[in-house]
Amino acid sequence: MASKAFDVVVAGAGVIGLSIAYTLKGIEPSLRVAVLGDPMNSLMASRAAAGMLAPFGECRESDRFFQFCRESLDKYPGFIQDLVSVSERPIHFSMMGSIMPASSVGEQWEERLRFFREESIPHEVWTVEQARERAPYLAPECGEVIWVGEGQVNNRQMHDALATGSVYRGVQIINQHVTGFHRYSNRIQAAVTDAGEILGKQFVVAAGSWSQQIGKVLEVSMPLRPIKGQMCRVAVEDGRLDYTIHGMNTYIAPWREGNGFVVGSTMEDRGFNEMVEADVIQGLVDRAAKILPCLKEAPLIESWTGLRPAAEDLMPIMGASGRYENLFYSTGHFRNGILQTPHQADYMAACLLGTLKNPITEFSPDRYDL
Ligand SMILES: Cc1cc2nc3c(=O)[nH]c(=O)nc-3n(C[C@H](O)[C@H](O)[C@H](O)COP(=O)(O)OP(=O)(O)OC[C@H]3O[C@@H](n4cnc5c(N)ncnc54)[C@H](O)[C@@H]3O)c2cc1C
Repeated sequence: MASKAFDVVVAGAGVIGLSIAYTLKGIEPSLRVAVLGDPMNSLMASRAAAGMLAPFGECRESDRFFQFCRESLDKYPGFIQDLVSVSERPIHFSMMGSIMPASSVGEQWEERLRFFREESIPHEVWTVEQARERAPYLAPECGEVIWVGEGQVNNRQMHDALATGSVYRGVQIINQHVTGFHRYSNRIQAAVTDAGEILGKQFVVAAGSWSQQIGKVLEVSMPLRPIKGQMCRVAVEDGRLDYTIHGMNTYIAPWREGNGFVVGSTMEDRGFNEMVEADVIQGLVDRAAKILPCLKEAPLIESWTGLRPAAEDLMPIMGASGRYENLFYSTGHFRNGILQTPHQADYMAACLLGTLKNPITEFSPDRYDL
């Protein structure tokens, strides 16, 4: 069996695994870094997401999770600029913000505004007239809207750019899954794949929803499960909407550049279920069309399923293993992994290089004895 040797071996070729490899090589070009995993896995969350960078729409309290997401949003413009320049690939990225119509926010209107005020989150309340002027295709029933200053990225383009940029920086992407490990005492020596073994000094588990299966091979019990999301993309002309929309059980993300609008999404606890159900997709479009009526007749471009990696407490699992001296985790990014990518990559690179100053206890693998 062939074997290869690296300083760092990352299991998982989604945005999380690739961004760790990409960032590490940016800081320390002499490191030999490998990423294992299928970069085009059809269920992977990284290509299934809507690309909303939405700490303000998603979070309700100012806990460590919110702060981390917010810090990651702040890093986005620089991260994308660097990635486009290294990879020479285009990435659509917008900081036009999100809107929340009163018809969807309902009774939470005051509470939402209080949170935005207390946290000094950039926001505005648009009157019905202002909303009509700035987002003329919104349904009149939407009423007033709250605008918040957050972002959106084309996550597929970002994933492509991370793969290309990583390769340009010298990362080796090996399209093989980890099937086992060679261990000696509390040290991992090699990851085993069907194409041979990959020797490493440090290993990172960043395999999204499949991290739990890798945990099993390592004899750790990771409380992580896949939460299925069905979603679709419809053909709508650019210019119909400049903002992403957070609605009642629905969201709409314009991908622009002729790529139509993404409409999401379900949250289903059904294991590794890859089915895409036509009636569910129609339900998503119908709900979204109550906010943006032009979606009703928009031709369907594609529909899909992706799996969000969710830990029991819905927080990421990031940092050094307590069980193995050369093992690290970055998984459980659940609904916000695209948003968390840049900050997560810096955090994990610092972990691996031994320069991390303030480990976040809320995210620590220790909480699950990993
Ligand atoms: C429908 C949907 C909508 C979403 N929308 C948003 C959004 O708008 N904004 C946002 O911030 N986040 C969103 N998310 C969440 C975000 O997509 C995820 O948190 C993030 O992509 C997780 O990335 P990942 O790299 O950990 O996992 P994944 O992208 O799932 O990648 C896992 C990788 O692990 C590999 N792998 C599997 N098994 C093994 C093995 N044994 N060995 C090696 N590799 C293995 C796979 O091949 C794959 O490459 C959404 C997710 C879904 C599903």
